[in-house]
Amino acid sequence: MNYLSTRGHPDRKRFCEILLEGLAPDGGLYLPEQYPQIDTAMLAKWRKLPYAELAFEILSLYIDDIPPADLKAICAKTYTAEVFGTDEIVPLRELEDGVYLEALSNGPTLAFKDMAMQLLGNLFEYELARRGAELNILGATSGDTGSAAEYAMRGKKGVRVFMTSPDGRMSPFQQAQMFSLQDANIHNIAITGVFDDCQDIVKAVSNDLAFKRKYRIGTVNSINWARLLAQVVYYFAGYFQATASNDKPVSFTVPSGNFGNVCAGHVARMMGLPIHTLVVATNENDVLDEFFRTGVYRVRGAVDTHETSSPSMDISKASNFERFVFDLVGRDPARLRKLFVDDLGLNGSFDLSADPAFAQAAGRFGFRSGRSTHADRLATIRDTDKRFATLVDPHTADGLKAAREQLTPGVPMVVLETALPIKFAATLVEALGEEPARPKKFEGIEALPKRVVKLPADAEAVKAYIAEHCD
Ligand SMILES: *Cc1c(COP(=O)(O)O)cnc(C)c1O
Repeated sequence: MNYLSTRGHPDRKRFCEILLEGLAPDGGLYLPEQYPQIDTAMLAKWRKLPYAELAFEILSLYIDDIPPADLKAICAKTYTAEVFGTDEIVPLRELEDGVYLEALSNGPTLAFKDMAMQLLGNLFEYELARRGAELNILGATSGDTGSAAEYAMRGKKGVRVFMTSPDGRMSPFQQAQMFSLQDANIHNIAITGVFDDCQDIVKAVSNDLAFKRKYRIGTVNSINWARLLAQVVYYFAGYFQATASNDKPVSFTVPSGNFGNVCAGHVARMMGLPIHTLVVATNENDVLDEFFRTGVYRVRGAVDTHETSSPSMDISKASNFERFVFDLVGRDPARLRKLFVDDLGLNGSFDLSADPAFAQAAGRFGFRSGRSTHADRLATIRDTDKRFATLVDPHTADGLKAAREQLTPGVPMVVLETALPIKFAATLVEALGEEPARPKKFEGIEALPKRVVKLPADAEAVKAYIAEHCD
């Protein structure tokens, strides 16, 4: 399997070459040259498999530069009941007639990002050992991504994590989750400033090419193809649990921010999994809902990017969206470049409303969308508690609301549960007047010793810290 760049770079790469990379050299995103097609025999065989073996089967179609026995061992080591809480790994439960919740948030940090990040940690360790190389992951987080990365990389050989976060601005629970890690290869850096300062520091350090090369700086952001690929697996697992046979269509609703999660659903559908509709659920930051309603993709400025009660979906642009648009415009890199380089560069937006391709987003590709507000979120959390005695987190609530607007009679609707309510306790308290129950392993974490250094919002200070802690 070879990978290409959405922007037309002539090079073709194998999986392990792009595993440790971010963007392609021309600024595009990597995609497989073609989507492997599944047939009825494969679906019949896969339906019976435990999650780790299903993951191995699917990953094998995209990874041909890791020996199968090794890849199988990596999958088996990653997807265990010990790490994810159940044998099913992603258990499905029916909420009401035809509407299901797929639990993706029972990993170490209680959000769906663990599903991909845990695999990434093991793949990184494997590949770095094979190359005799080391990697220093530098990141900026306001919560979910940073903690998922730290829990995936903790104790891994050849990897260090330097994670910046805005000092005092994460929830006490999120701070405790990250700062209580005592592993020598995990470095928490609290920056005196806001999240944007952290992101600027990461950019500044990455733009210092000499430093980047000397200290082997890498990232684990959501455009990483391996993360997206890992997420394809739970669409299959959800499908098998929602149906009794492989001829039935199923729809999925996905609380969306950077379009990574739902893009994995798109890949599963392109492979031939019978997905009826993919519903993109957004909050007040409705860049994606606007596109699927109107054909206009309009990146937001800082003043138009809202801080909401589903913060992991607070985006100004959706970094994985380019992958879907590449398929939408018939994989024509010249057209893709006109949209993402010329139009977005010049106007901050592009308009496909009059283009025949836009009709295909809903038609051929099965996309719909929906949008929620803070009031909707609270109402959904209350309603779900009252009618089904089930607590959902604010992001999953956004999903449930959008899902109910897009039901098709006779087609099961699977809503992806992207976090557990305890991670966003303040909003649960606002909706219900009480704190959600906390899983046992997180009891009292706020009182644990914290391992964190405070640095000013200054890239040079962060560089000095990294240099001092790499030997
Ligand atoms: C990251 C995240 C999302 C958004 O996922 P994307 O892949 O960026 O679309 C939604 N909900 C939660 C809880 C998240 O952590």
